[in-house]
Amino acid sequence: MLPKILLPVLLLFLACHSTTGVSAGGAAVSMAERPKNIILLIGDGMATAQVSAGVYWKGAGKSVWDRFPVVGFHKSHSYDERVTDSAAGATAFACGQKTKNNGIGIVPPDYGPCLTILEELDARGWATGMVVSSSATHATPASFIAHVDIRAFTEAIADDFLKTPIDCFVGGGKGYFDDRPDHKNLLDSLDARGYVVRTGYGFNRLPLDGSAPFMLFTADREPPAASNGRNYMPTAVEKVCSYLEKRSRRGFFLMVEGSQIDWALHSNDPNWLKAEMMDFDATVQAALRFAESNGETLVIVTGDHECGGLGLNDASRWQFEPTFTARLHSATMVPVFAFGPKAALFSGIYENTAIYYKMWSALGTDKVESK
Ligand code: MG
Ligand code: ZN
Repeated sequence: MLPKILLPVLLLFLACHSTTGVSAGGAAVSMAERPKNIILLIGDGMATAQVSAGVYWKGAGKSVWDRFPVVGFHKSHSYDERVTDSAAGATAFACGQKTKNNGIGIVPPDYGPCLTILEELDARGWATGMVVSSSATHATPASFIAHVDIRAFTEAIADDFLKTPIDCFVGGGKGYFDDRPDHKNLLDSLDARGYVVRTGYGFNRLPLDGSAPFMLFTADREPPAASNGRNYMPTAVEKVCSYLEKRSRRGFFLMVEGSQIDWALHSNDPNWLKAEMMDFDATVQAALRFAESNGETLVIVTGDHECGGLGLNDASRWQFEPTFTARLHSATMVPVFAFGPKAALFSGIYENTAIYYKMWSALGTDKVESK
């Protein structure tokens, strides 16, 4: 597969307009008026209490959250339920429409497939990628590339990875491609399409010069917890951003998920949660570092919903005690952080579906949300 280096003419005039902005660290940087690249980072299960805990654990002024100039809130409910799951939550970001819980890239009224922003940008010549700490087939990454009725249909979700020429994927789930009840080996199909497929956490045997698409499987099923040795996320974001930049002159769309924040919350495990929030902090830092030096990259960070009904109760003096009121998701509004060209679009309070429309609007393609 060739790099997407077509259509440079339109870009010339887009790239010429720049303005002075303020870096996340406060220094003046040169920034384009409009982004070429979008990095959407999703902390699964992460709402205000989780971000607050992250800020306190890291220390005031040191957390990545202190660095964002624009903050908003989204309302996370799904099509027909106050409390969403991750499938409907991610489909709202990916397609701009609310759907039923459990639905992956399908929307009402007839629950047919919706074109995701990743698929559409890919078709329009953007480079695309996903970096996650779950398997490829888990609900959040699945909702950006697959179209299935029920999130548990993992083999069908893996099949859909073959239908969009995504440039790169980093995360777990190799077994859903090559160790399946139907005995299909999708790694052969990926190979036939020119993908370099590797396993482990090593980035040095990947075509990071942009010469080929790749999949780096970090686990056979789900990757380990951050508290149990998983440390590839920040490096993956750094490597993938510079790789995607080489894959297309048009720009890139990268979805990054801190998948296991949600799992720590379902388990009501404060130590696991802390490790995941620290890992996600470092992951978002990597995205901000790229965006600051690049100047044409919009970074958006949010959660898909709250999980655990997390409270930060008084312990002693400056200590707090994470307290869980639920083992499932909740309806709390979710903060949205934005940095880079057109970041201001993300202030205010809006539906989760608006994030899709704001991303398109930032790129200069207005799409109208039907109510
Ligand atoms: Mg998820
Ligand atoms: Zn969950």
